[in-house]
Amino acid sequence: MTAGAAGADGADGDAGAVGASDRAGAGRTDRADVIVVGAGIAGLVAAEAVYRAGRSVLVIEARDRVGGRMRSVGDANGAIELGATWFWANESAVIALVDRLGVDTFDQFSSGDALFEPGRRRMSGVPGVGDARRFTAGAGDLAGRLAARLPPGSVRLGSPVVALEVDDDEVRVRTAHGEHRARHAVVALPPPLVAERIAITPQPPAALAEKVVRTQVWMGEMTKAVAVYPEAFWRDEGLSGLVMSHQGPFREIHDHSGPHGSPSAVFGFAPSASFVGVDEIAIAEAFTAQLVRLFGGRAARPSRVDVVDWSRESWTTPARPHPERSTAGYGDPVFAVPVGGRLHWASTETATRFAGHVEGAIRSGLRAADAVVGALAGA
Ligand SMILES: Cc1cc2nc3c(=O)[nH]c(=O)nc-3n(C[C@H](O)[C@H](O)[C@H](O)COP(=O)(O)OP(=O)(O)OC[C@H]3O[C@@H](n4cnc5c(N)ncnc54)[C@H](O)[C@@H]3O)c2cc1C
Repeated sequence: MTAGAAGADGADGDAGAVGASDRAGAGRTDRADVIVVGAGIAGLVAAEAVYRAGRSVLVIEARDRVGGRMRSVGDANGAIELGATWFWANESAVIALVDRLGVDTFDQFSSGDALFEPGRRRMSGVPGVGDARRFTAGAGDLAGRLAARLPPGSVRLGSPVVALEVDDDEVRVRTAHGEHRARHAVVALPPPLVAERIAITPQPPAALAEKVVRTQVWMGEMTKAVAVYPEAFWRDEGLSGLVMSHQGPFREIHDHSGPHGSPSAVFGFAPSASFVGVDEIAIAEAFTAQLVRLFGGRAARPSRVDVVDWSRESWTTPARPHPERSTAGYGDPVFAVPVGGRLHWASTETATRFAGHVEGAIRSGLRAADAVVGALAGA
């Protein structure tokens, strides 16, 4: 095995990089009608909608890439997803975006029998993830395409926002590199990360602050591993690649091959709590060992294994998640009320429907853009 562990952001071949973006923009002070904090899909959808409405926009992103939890490696011929993978037929906002951006998609492979652990029990007709579809060039490609629709220089990478100050006339957005000013801002990152990393003035109302800090980051405490093979050998044995395991460490495994079976791959999800203190190489080895137990000796030699423990991604999951974090506050009405009338909320956790999914993230970005464009028109 040439054990690759994707690990922290910045791995080669990350599909989220964009030519239209700028790194840091050191020392610059810029003004725009709207500043969006976070270049995940929610932030980019919001930014592009604001720009299409004829307003100027800046996107300030902490990482060196766009896409956030939509992170792909590979190229247009076959992407490996290290974050979001699927969308479904009832997700109208994803489908509308896919159509508008001209993105190719394909069906998740699901033919054959599933395996259950313990005991490697084989069962036919297990629906798995239903009618899920995938993005041919990767989920990260959607983010890259949206960013490329913005004017050059509008996306500032490598610029963590540390403070947001709202007053009667504007919002000041501070990064380690400087200060930017806008009439409105959209915070498009998981709410508890805002609480942990960004000082907001004036302090948000208590009811909002409480929701923000207790919101659980969707998939923020999961580890995903992807093993790539020269061929999808499990298919030869009539297996779909779907595994449900009570034995672990990976609880759920799926075929992750490209549209025509290439690249050939499987991925697994495990709770990050299973790997406290375990490095990514050892996680990759544990995944391979489980695949050998399930699929036999041919699984022993993956050409690469990528691992991302999303709980270790400091631009996704707080270092100290709230002990009573939950999904109960997803889409709470407090997120629809802008702080000081100028600081708006987005991110999948704030969506009133499909919260957690890419669909929810897109809807939250469109909602925030509507609110901002409406406020600017009424000003
Ligand atoms: C392993 C995994 C599998 C998933 N599978 C699926 C799936 O199959 N289908 C599905 O629909 N959904 C799936 N999801 C969920 C999906 O990825 C998310 O719903 C969606 O990507 C969230 O987008 P977002 O824009 O709301 O947030 P994010 O993608 O988290 O974007 C937030 C952005 O803000 C940036 N940021 C953070 N802090 C700062 C700061 N201080 N200053 C500036 N920028 C900052 C981050 O770097 C990031 O780019 C999965 C998620 C994971 C992790």
